[in-house]
Amino acid sequence: MQDYIIVGSGLAGIAFAETLLQHGKSFVVFDNHSQNSTQIAGGLYNPVILKRFSEVWNAKSQLEVATPFYKTIEQKLQIELDFKIPIYRKFFSVEEQNNWFTASDKPSLAPFLSNKIIHKSYKSIDAPFGYGEVLQTGYVDTKILLANYHQYLKANNWLDENTFDYNELRVLDNHIEYQNLKAKRIVFAEGFGMHSNPFFKHLPWDGTKGELFIIKADDLDLDVIVNTSVFILPLGNKLYKVGATYHWEDKTSTPTEEAKKELIERIKEILLCDFEIVEHFAGVRPTVKDRRPLLGTHPKYKNIHILNGLGTRGVMLAPSMAIDLYDFIENDKPLDKSIDINRFKNK
Ligand SMILES: Cc1cc2nc3c(=O)[nH]c(=O)nc-3n(C[C@H](O)[C@H](O)[C@H](O)COP(=O)(O)OP(=O)(O)OC[C@H]3O[C@@H](n4cnc5c(N)ncnc54)[C@H](O)[C@@H]3O)c2cc1C
Repeated sequence: MQDYIIVGSGLAGIAFAETLLQHGKSFVVFDNHSQNSTQIAGGLYNPVILKRFSEVWNAKSQLEVATPFYKTIEQKLQIELDFKIPIYRKFFSVEEQNNWFTASDKPSLAPFLSNKIIHKSYKSIDAPFGYGEVLQTGYVDTKILLANYHQYLKANNWLDENTFDYNELRVLDNHIEYQNLKAKRIVFAEGFGMHSNPFFKHLPWDGTKGELFIIKADDLDLDVIVNTSVFILPLGNKLYKVGATYHWEDKTSTPTEEAKKELIERIKEILLCDFEIVEHFAGVRPTVKDRRPLLGTHPKYKNIHILNGLGTRGVMLAPSMAIDLYDFIENDKPLDKSIDINRFKNK
């Protein structure tokens, strides 16, 4: 008898597996590589929503959990994942500079927004109004995380790469059965793959397609992430990750010409040099109407749980959401109402 079955090993499933390991619980993870949100994500973590100058929900506490979480995996797997690098917001006018100063005075944003204007000159970017620096930022290389974590799961016989077939799940009073497996509980963490899950159809989750590029720009010398209507993230060797788009109709992971055009236009608003598109990716973010995660227990079955809805910010959210779900299940610690799936009861 396993303690848990986890379905999905993107950021959500990995964070939950790590939490289980820290508590000495046994588990098996299913992942059929059908969704690629974690695989292709920008991986940025940024405590400020720059468009609206507001703090990301619970940013401080999420970062406090996420930083040691990724460090632990780095040490365990002997890899580098968490790249602490500043995000510079490019200013296009004096008015934008003034808005930045007003925002950096707000007590909730002061720890995250530098109150100095940075005049740094980068080849191929014209920035006469300078940049504002967001503090406590960086990116997690989610592709490396995924590849290495899957290898680690495999090496321990904890990973099954078959599709989890919901029809074969038998829910009994005190445990569940699936094919030849028995477990006390099951946690569904399928990202947008949740659309096939019959147990949580009542939740108002959605999917937001995003596309991004890897470009090569020989005449660019960025050593920070620049953010305007897109982000440009230096990967080394003149390669940059650039993204991302937001589309709500198409729910496939296929790159489109429309998004390609959109990204090229936005890149040209910032870069004065030529660039070559080396790769073009698309994926569907597991978003929720009220922009909060989905955590909790099935209304009828007490041993079926969900960890989903990480939306546009899985890197910062996943580690603390995994702990919140674990504490809720194992230690009866109530979930914050804003993330509990019960907020959608009777709606
Ligand atoms: C273009 C783009 C850019 C992004 N940029 C950022 C960013 O810069 N910063 C950030 O924090 N977030 C970013 N995100 C969001 C981030 O990727 C997500 O929040 C996060 O990856 C979601 O993780 P997840 O584990 O919930 O879902 P997923 O990563 O989709 O993982 C779910 C897993 O479940 C598996 N699965 C599904 N159904 C089944 C089944 N029936 N059987 C077996 N396995 C199954 C899938 O194969 C998949 O591996 C971005 C997303 C996109 C698309």
